[in-house]
Amino acid sequence: MRILWRGDEGYEQARLDVVWHARKPDRYPDGIAFAQGRQDVVDAVRLARERGLKVKARSGGHSWTASSVRDGGLLIDLSGLGAWAVDADAGTAMVEPGAKGRDLNEGLAEHGLFFPTGHCPTIALGGFLLQGGWGWTSRALGPACMSVTAVDVVTADGELVHASETENPDLLWAARGAGSGFFGVVVGYHLRCHPRPASMMRSIYAYSLDEAEELMRWAHAMQPEWPAALELQFLGSFPRNPDASPAAEGDAMIMVIGFALFDSEEESVAALRLLETAPVRDKALVVEACVPSTLDELYELVDSYARPEVAYAGDSLWSDDGADELVPAFLEMVRDMPTRWSYVLWWPWVPQALDGVALSVTGKHYISPFSGWADPADEAEVAAWPGEHMRRLDHLSKGIQLADENLLGRPDARYMTDENAARLEALRATWDPEGRFHSFLFGDARAAAGGATSA
Ligand SMILES: Cc1cc2nc3c(=O)[nH]c(=O)nc-3n(C[C@H](O)[C@H](O)[C@H](O)COP(=O)(O)OP(=O)(O)OC[C@H]3O[C@@H](n4cnc5c(N)ncnc54)[C@H](O)[C@@H]3O)c2cc1C
Repeated sequence: MRILWRGDEGYEQARLDVVWHARKPDRYPDGIAFAQGRQDVVDAVRLARERGLKVKARSGGHSWTASSVRDGGLLIDLSGLGAWAVDADAGTAMVEPGAKGRDLNEGLAEHGLFFPTGHCPTIALGGFLLQGGWGWTSRALGPACMSVTAVDVVTADGELVHASETENPDLLWAARGAGSGFFGVVVGYHLRCHPRPASMMRSIYAYSLDEAEELMRWAHAMQPEWPAALELQFLGSFPRNPDASPAAEGDAMIMVIGFALFDSEEESVAALRLLETAPVRDKALVVEACVPSTLDELYELVDSYARPEVAYAGDSLWSDDGADELVPAFLEMVRDMPTRWSYVLWWPWVPQALDGVALSVTGKHYISPFSGWADPADEAEVAAWPGEHMRRLDHLSKGIQLADENLLGRPDARYMTDENAARLEALRATWDPEGRFHSFLFGDARAAAGGATSA
């Protein structure tokens, strides 16, 4: 297995390359190991043990805070473990952590199957499933980790173990929602797949901020009527050029994006037609209603929101509050976006029971602000922006989503129920008593306070 140690030729480029977007951390692992198979991961963890090094894994590098890149220790790059295999008769699949969502769904399509992968096509399943997995049709199917039936994990003592409901169930519990706080390296996920929706359609509307208040209040009032398989994203953003870069001119606006993934065209059309009932519909600046689509087109559409050549900071909140609180809060952020690459998402959610999994914070509404900057000189001014707004709105927040976590900037944010967070730490003490694995990336403040889960 190739390992680049700090000081080796190629180390610095590899350290930069493990992070998907352009905000590269000022943190330096002692070494980066490029695993090509399970045995390499076992060997890497054992080597780290021998040398007294901490360990952190990396699958697709899509963590906004680059939580896989730490000071010191061995970073195990799992992008070489990208295989998957389908059992079409059983409707199941086994995927390695470096596999990408779009590739998996392309393979499943041949068998009429589907999996709620992340909306962006290049997110690896490794980190996506660990943190919960808010994917395509998750409003109907649940967070993707609810469709994980078993995991294969390399533990702190360098052993490869299987965890299912009947074998090491605590380890499976933790792997379904602990995200960056997981105390092992997952080398295989066993998935329950779902029937592939026969009809895929999209609608897109753009509204000026003059219409935003009325639009958003209508959207909140309509929320109980939207079918679960209709996915809606309300995005505050600046107008984009055809190449997805922000247009130099034009005010911020609200994009209403509906994705319908149903069993029939009739159901898709009926669901998307609900968007035609907006009281401000006649004032829409852009209308693309009920356009037949493919999953590939839907991935590409979402992929254009955030670009790898741009640096980002993000944050999030789940809330059960109503329109009176959330609409002004959302619109204040949209009006305050610090750069033209920035955007703010409101995602109406259908809360589901989260039994038997570490994942434990959701709500009726998900709000997530992102600041983006193409010029590194802007970082000092805009990187703190999402966290500042989330701190201001803390009274509306039930907690964050680990997908868009900013624990580095807001180490006190609630990422699990107290009960689940305590259970996770108790399991860590059992499975990783020496603290071999780096946990959540809390940053200096909490680490200095000596928190058991500190970086
Ligand atoms: C453009 C973009 C769009 C996104 N869209 C969505 C979305 O639609 N839905 C959603 O839920 N999330 C979304 N996310 C968030 C993303 O799913 C999470 O950041 C996820 O953790 C990324 O997984 P990764 O393997 O690519 O990241 P990485 O940065 O490689 O890993 C993230 C964390 O998980 C740990 N980790 C990764 N793999 C393993 C493993 N095999 N074993 C142990 N620990 C591991 C790492 O140490 C790190 O702390 C998006 C992110 C981006 C950048």
